[in-house]
Amino acid sequence: MSPTQNVTDHFGSFIDGAWEGRGHPLSLVDPALAQPHAVIHTSTLEDVDRAVTAAHAASRAWARRSPSERGAILGTWAGLVFANQDRLAALESRNVGKPLAAGLLNVQIAGSIISYAAGAADKLTGATLPVRSPDYFGYTTREPYGVCAIVLPWNVPAVLGASNLAPALAAGNSVVLKPSEVAPLVLHAMVDLAHEAGLPPGVLNVVTGVGPELGSALVGHPGVNHVSFVGSVATGRLVMQNAAQNLTPVKLELGGKSPQLVFADADLDRVVPSIVRGITENAGQNCNAGSRLLVDARIADEVTDRVLAGMSAVRVGAWDEDVDMGPLVNAAQHDRINGIIGDARSRGAELLLGGARPDGREEGYFLAPTVLRVKEAGHPVVNQEIFGPVLTVETFADDAEALALANGTDFGLLACVWTQDVSRALGMARDITAGQIAVNQYSDAGVIGLPFNMAKQSGFSSGQGYRGMYEFTREKAVAVKL
Ligand code: NAD
Repeated sequence: MSPTQNVTDHFGSFIDGAWEGRGHPLSLVDPALAQPHAVIHTSTLEDVDRAVTAAHAASRAWARRSPSERGAILGTWAGLVFANQDRLAALESRNVGKPLAAGLLNVQIAGSIISYAAGAADKLTGATLPVRSPDYFGYTTREPYGVCAIVLPWNVPAVLGASNLAPALAAGNSVVLKPSEVAPLVLHAMVDLAHEAGLPPGVLNVVTGVGPELGSALVGHPGVNHVSFVGSVATGRLVMQNAAQNLTPVKLELGGKSPQLVFADADLDRVVPSIVRGITENAGQNCNAGSRLLVDARIADEVTDRVLAGMSAVRVGAWDEDVDMGPLVNAAQHDRINGIIGDARSRGAELLLGGARPDGREEGYFLAPTVLRVKEAGHPVVNQEIFGPVLTVETFADDAEALALANGTDFGLLACVWTQDVSRALGMARDITAGQIAVNQYSDAGVIGLPFNMAKQSGFSSGQGYRGMYEFTREKAVAVKL
């Protein structure tokens, strides 16, 4: 890739079916080169208001379309996402800095999520209820909220866009989307494809710009009937406070510090590659990154040595090179994470690998895969979402200590349990406080519609599954005297 690449121009607002950009320009930086590759003409505060108004105007007609028709439009949208997967993958990969193959996989997952919601659109049901006497009739229905605000982070924009937009639209809501100002391009392109698929103007609107200004105005807008927020714990708190002004319902999908518990009977040939992938995929910039290795003390040296060898072999480079891992997304993340590593070392954590730029990568925001050994119980680095390729290693003496370490953070997103012992696996699955448990694997691969649940400060949502679609509906109870 040439460092003198062309900078493309994009509009940030999509209101009532038309792109425009009336706010100040904002550069998007290629993280591998630390140079701008695109400029977004952002949205203004007035655009937020116009987008909510457009969504309101379109919402009744969209809610009254037959669910099967809504599903058909979403199904066409899913097909267009697959048909355009190479273009969409390049937008996501360059913007976030992830390898093209990873961007492609993310776009394919996004297409599958839209397809799932399309099929479920006409299968959301209420209930008929038992009555005290035969001259009563009672039932519940599921109704869309109206206008949903969806505010997203930059790390996996296509997947998170699909997993929030598709169920919201399938359930009959109209939407104002605020993608992250750091990586909005793939979502802008997906919004175009939704309209090519037949989505009526006004049903899906976009505002793009800086979060504390535009995101805050959107979340606090009195015309918004439901807020879905995906992002950091700190911003999630602000979003919840802001939504409280109008008592707007909120769903929060926040950060994580997910443990990988490796017991002495685990199959290390399967464990080690998963530990490496779990912390280097997307340069560790995933909410469910497996960022804490908790390992039985008896096998700790062997596991650590093998993980270090695996992490050392990770090929690091730019999005369009044949590599396993890209840079961090921007200078702010690079500075922040280098600071965390420095602090952790000054408080006794031992640097086993990385902690600096990989060889030959003097430009861009690269950080080599990094491993820190932590011996002090409750060291701050094991309770802090780093959001980079930084793995901490701690040991345990028995199952009780493993459980205490696993539960010893404020987060509760994913926990992975590696053991051949079914009773131990199921016991850990019961006792670990997390929204998702993976046994002898990392993450949710292989299961269709597995809910993306959260516990503790990781938030509250059950997105991505069939039940998650109901989060975009409100239940109405009807009682009739015959
Ligand atoms: P962030 O919280 O900084 O920003 C998220 C979004 O909120 C962006 O669109 C931003 O512009 C907007 N925003 C910022 N301030 C706001 C405010 N005051 N009011 C309303 N909106 C505001 O997060 P990020 O750095 O973009 O993303 C990384 C975080 O996202 C990590 O913590 C990660 O764990 C989390 N994440 C969670 C999940 C999940 O499903 N649980 C998935 C992906 C990422």
